[in-house]
Amino acid sequence: MTKETNAALYERARRSIPGGVNSPVRAFRAVGGTPRFISRGEGAHIVDEEGNRYLDFMNSWGPLILGHAHPEVIEAIQNKAALGTTFGAPCRAEIELAEAVIAAYPGLEQVRFVSSGTEATMSAIRLARGATGRDLIVKFSGCYHGHADHLLVAAGSGLVTAGQPSSAGVPKDFAALTRVLPLDAEDKLRALFAAEGSRIAAVIIEPVPANNGLLLQRKEFLLTLRKLTRDNGALLIFDEVISGFRVAKGGAAEHYGITPDLATFGKVIGGGLPVGAYGGSRKLMAHIAPEGPVYQAGTLSGNPVAMAAGLATLRILEREKAWERLEVLGALLEKEVAAALAGVELPWKMTRIGSIFWLSFQEGDSPRSAKALDEAAGARFKPLFHAMLERGVYIPPSAFEVMFLSLAHTPAHVAHFAQTLRDAIAATAT
Ligand SMILES: *Cc1c(COP(=O)(O)O)cnc(C)c1O
Repeated sequence: MTKETNAALYERARRSIPGGVNSPVRAFRAVGGTPRFISRGEGAHIVDEEGNRYLDFMNSWGPLILGHAHPEVIEAIQNKAALGTTFGAPCRAEIELAEAVIAAYPGLEQVRFVSSGTEATMSAIRLARGATGRDLIVKFSGCYHGHADHLLVAAGSGLVTAGQPSSAGVPKDFAALTRVLPLDAEDKLRALFAAEGSRIAAVIIEPVPANNGLLLQRKEFLLTLRKLTRDNGALLIFDEVISGFRVAKGGAAEHYGITPDLATFGKVIGGGLPVGAYGGSRKLMAHIAPEGPVYQAGTLSGNPVAMAAGLATLRILEREKAWERLEVLGALLEKEVAAALAGVELPWKMTRIGSIFWLSFQEGDSPRSAKALDEAAGARFKPLFHAMLERGVYIPPSAFEVMFLSLAHTPAHVAHFAQTLRDAIAATAT
């Protein structure tokens, strides 16, 4: 049997799927070249259809905190799947995962499961609007919250506070209900609340912004946000789709000691299957149908197979003391990279929180807002990405995407990453 090459598969995919992919960044547009079609994953590695094996630091963009195809997670999935994959009626596994999430996360009394991070944030926003009777929402430039219409919004120009659609197909009138502020700017936040505080339903933020580089925030900024929302009767939504069960058992809320009104989850919570969730106090969640007037539903929401994958993952994380171990591994990675890159000409910086890390190739301190990102650093990344890939190390195909460690990574993997990075930089130096 002749193997289809990645190039042949890409050409074939582009005939039946827009751009050949089901999520845009997979198409390698930022780095050029041919996307790899992955045939399997095992622990810290993925293997493409040509049989090339890569040490993986993309981690499917965050969900696989235990690595690929963890035997216990796969077994849990297989066992549940054999009993039927979805019923459209409640099942025990939903309660078990809900109880586990509530026990883990500060201030959470109830959760509702959905099937993606996008659905989670979209539903949390609807709930915030329904519960407060207000329409305005506030987001931050550089934070990603999935692709719901009112969240695909960029900052308006100059003094105009109304947001602009950041995608075709988003009506201007929708975007006009979203305010977009820069991160790390208490003054702008205060000014907005002074002007429109009584109209704001919610402020949504990635407390660990990890979708535009890793823009770690000062705790004081998050505290100001907590205070301003509370004082103005607006809800604070922590979008923990990446950070939940990743930076700590209780996500960024635990890490910073700040409790939001609503939190959204995805990625790790599904153990590699499509799961999202949003939750908050019982009082707030009582606004959701069937108890309350805010409608939200899902045919496959809470299906037993997805719940089992999430439950198995959370159990293993707890048992393995995952967050402590990943912190140790992350600190080792920092050390190895610093040692390997000592003396290289390229400006570089590693920003890290637990098992999330970002390498930026720009001068100066780790940026804290999207406007502090250097576009030229993006150009430096492109040849480096391919040099890493050729050497069997898979990192996300964009300069502004973070990387992840999983429990499948070993100290040897981490050392290999650092050595390969040094070689790749040397090979691409101009
Ligand atoms: C990935 C992500 C989303 C969207 O989740 P999907 O499952 O891709 O819809 C939302 N918010 C954050 C912070 C994310 O990282």
